[in-house]
Amino acid sequence: MPGALAAVGEADLHAHSTVSDGTESPATLMAQAAVAGLWGIALTDHDSTSGWAEAAAAVPETGVVLIPGMELSTREGFMSVHMLAYLVDPLDEGLIAETARIRESRMTRAEEIVRRIGRDYDLSWDDVLAQTTEGATIGRPHIADALVARGHVSTRSAAFAGILHPRAGYAQPHYAPDPLTGVRLIRSAGGVPVLAHPGTRGAERVISPERLARLVDAGLFGLEIDHPENRPDARARLRELALRFGLATTGSSDYHGTGKPNRLGESRTAPDVVERIIAEGRGAAPVLP
Ligand code: AMP
Ligand code: FE
Ligand code: FE
Ligand code: ZN
Repeated sequence: MPGALAAVGEADLHAHSTVSDGTESPATLMAQAAVAGLWGIALTDHDSTSGWAEAAAAVPETGVVLIPGMELSTREGFMSVHMLAYLVDPLDEGLIAETARIRESRMTRAEEIVRRIGRDYDLSWDDVLAQTTEGATIGRPHIADALVARGHVSTRSAAFAGILHPRAGYAQPHYAPDPLTGVRLIRSAGGVPVLAHPGTRGAERVISPERLARLVDAGLFGLEIDHPENRPDARARLRELALRFGLATTGSSDYHGTGKPNRLGESRTAPDVVERIIAEGRGAAPVLP
């Protein structure tokens, strides 16, 4: 029966398209999810839901379930904290206002970074626009692609390790709400919030129990533990925290197409957790074949 939720399977709950800093279109992403043998996939572009319609249109032919999502940028001091937001209402006014503000700041910030790099390297704002799909949420990966196109570096990763590294002196943050505001915003938009890749900085720099407790009180659903960039020592620590706070744990690839080595479906979320996310999400529904 089309539209009914039959047996839930494994899903990759974190992937990017050209709507943000991924290199594949939402439709291509869905086709690749089918090839990877995934039951479902969450499209989680940075601060945008613009890719949902195209991904949803590809559901019937690919047979892959789409869990509409977003990766909301938040910030704690100088540290960027990403919050996955599943099944949010894309028309929620609070969410629309906040993501518009973030995307605008991402734009002026990227222009400023490019201006600074332009003092030392042959690089213009047009070079960056040439690497960006119209309307996409802009980020450093687009600047990285422009640096590659100009021959200053060989890959995105090389750009991040060099010219885009904070210590290279061109860095500049963009506006983002704090994580607590982010969790509240996602819940009030009917969504299910999961802290993205919280272990990339190692066990010593994992979120403190005090700060995590506040996010849990505000409605945090889970921790993305099986993520290729979470360090092993941090994963162990995060599992302890998940147990202590009764949080769900997810697994995802954070696929960015050819922009990152992460392979689609390399980490996945267990069916029972996917099922709970679908049950808790009130702002949007999963799109079923
Ligand atoms: P921004 O959104 O401008 O803060 O840039 C952060 C984005 O850059 C993240 O979404 C990552 O996916 C991407 N990124 C970070 N490090 C790397 C890397 N070494 N190679 C490719 N992409 C990266
Ligand atoms: Fe990204
Ligand atoms: Fe992220
Ligand atoms: Zn991501």
